[in-house]
Amino acid sequence: MKFWIGGAAQSANMCIVAANMTVKGKDYGLHLFVVEIRDNTNHDLIPGVIIGDCGLKQGINGVDNGFIYFRAVRVPLDSLLDKVTQVSASGEVHSIIENKNKRFALQLSALSEGRVKIAFTTLTAGLKGAAIVLRYAAVRRQFGKEKYVESSVIDYPGYQQRIFPYIIMTIVSCFAGMESNRLWQDNYHQILDQKNRTIEEMHAIISCLKPILTWNLLNGLNEFRTAMGGLGYSKHAVIPQMIDDYHVMVTWEGENHVLIQQTGKFLLKQYFKKLSGETTNGFASTDYVTAEPLKWNHKLTNMAVLSSEDVLHSLLTFRAAKALQVAFNHIQSRVGEVGDFDAFNESTVFGLTEASIYYGELYIFRCSIAELSKRPNDENKKFMMQLLQLFVIERVLTSGTILMGYISEEEVNFLRKARIELNNAIRFNLLKSLDYLFLEEHVVVSPFGNKDGDMYGRFISKLLGEQGNFGKPAFWREIWELKNSN
Ligand SMILES: Cc1cc2nc3c(=O)[nH]c(=O)nc-3n(C[C@H](O)[C@H](O)[C@H](O)COP(=O)(O)OP(=O)(O)OC[C@H]3O[C@@H](n4cnc5c(N)ncnc54)[C@H](O)[C@@H]3O)c2cc1C
Repeated sequence: MKFWIGGAAQSANMCIVAANMTVKGKDYGLHLFVVEIRDNTNHDLIPGVIIGDCGLKQGINGVDNGFIYFRAVRVPLDSLLDKVTQVSASGEVHSIIENKNKRFALQLSALSEGRVKIAFTTLTAGLKGAAIVLRYAAVRRQFGKEKYVESSVIDYPGYQQRIFPYIIMTIVSCFAGMESNRLWQDNYHQILDQKNRTIEEMHAIISCLKPILTWNLLNGLNEFRTAMGGLGYSKHAVIPQMIDDYHVMVTWEGENHVLIQQTGKFLLKQYFKKLSGETTNGFASTDYVTAEPLKWNHKLTNMAVLSSEDVLHSLLTFRAAKALQVAFNHIQSRVGEVGDFDAFNESTVFGLTEASIYYGELYIFRCSIAELSKRPNDENKKFMMQLLQLFVIERVLTSGTILMGYISEEEVNFLRKARIELNNAIRFNLLKSLDYLFLEEHVVVSPFGNKDGDMYGRFISKLLGEQGNFGKPAFWREIWELKNSN
């Protein structure tokens, strides 16, 4: 039985079932089968197939999600999708991939396409959310230094720090989103080619980008909702609807916590290779992985240091390498006692999840820098570099124990100060940048997210347009009688 299958409850006639294949008593592991679930002529269920709707959901209720239960359903041999494994009528099995686990992994790697698309959807949703909250924040005024002159909430450092990190992550990640899509487009047709080593690296990249970006969207939308005060709670603000609709992004197409373990396993493998003395692993994205003791040489005490692309880059490589060492050392210290399975699972809360996220964030940074290096040194590039500075500061200040002992209190305080200055310096350009991203009225939909800033006028006209918002209620007499009864 399987829940949540898109299109199952009402629409689909066929589905693809991932199931273990046993031939003559031997288990060949997971394979894919095309299975008819409804008759093509009358839409009746095929005998043995039970289907129901998954019922009301938190969001995307327009999507038809159903559960399917198979009871002794038989399919012809021909329904096996046999690019990987072929089975003859007499039961001879031939597979192009000998190793069962590898076969499992490669067959599921086709799911990467959905993850790349989710990264894109997430980025566009993040930009829409950013337009709504930033345009609100520019118009909404509260308090101020001078009498009768109130400041826009976007001017407050505390406010900026609540929403800017999510918006910055969204903007700088657009390059990584495009690059990972290019990787997928260039390589998906060779996904079963075991000699193509890019597939392994691509899988690790996609397996952490999807969690990083969907978590950023979810946490960001939550903060945007409260950053718009009471108006953020209005259905018309659109943010509440977005929270409901996009919440599932962290769950489907690879549940984030489970998916990111794929990146962790890839990184551990690269670390083990280094430890075993292999000098080159051939993966550009893991060139920082080292089993040698790590040294940190920079002193983060002035803006000149923070303006250096190399320093920003080495901060991210250092913490990614450090987290991986912490995770690996933990596994090594525990494996003898608790075995592989438990040692690995413990490592997910002992540096490995961080190592995987830091790997993805380094990838995001590198993709942005690679793109910016092709651009002229103009105001746009300066703005993007400021965003990247803030991106790195945020990553360092939220790295918790991984950087403990390497970054002093003085440096932390400098980074906090730099963050205040940079947030303040970018606020208008951040707002302006959205005007060039096609975030027009019909895209944003929310009355608070329009370029013209007439958010109160637009909100009022929404309310005016709704029957029932004005006039006395139908039950007014009951209230009156209740009040006047003895
Ligand atoms: C709206 C919607 C649409 C969907 N559409 C489809 C679809 O079209 N086709 C389809 O096939 N599927 C679809 N899904 C299913 C979706 O992919 C799964 O819900 C998702 O993969 C999570 O699996 P699960 O629900 O069994 O969660 P569970 O496996 O029960 O996970 C529960 C929790 O346990 C945690 N967990 C599980 N294993 C581990 C571990 N090893 N270590 C640490 N934590 C762990 C997870 O992180 C998770 O938070 C859809 C789901 C939803 C909600």
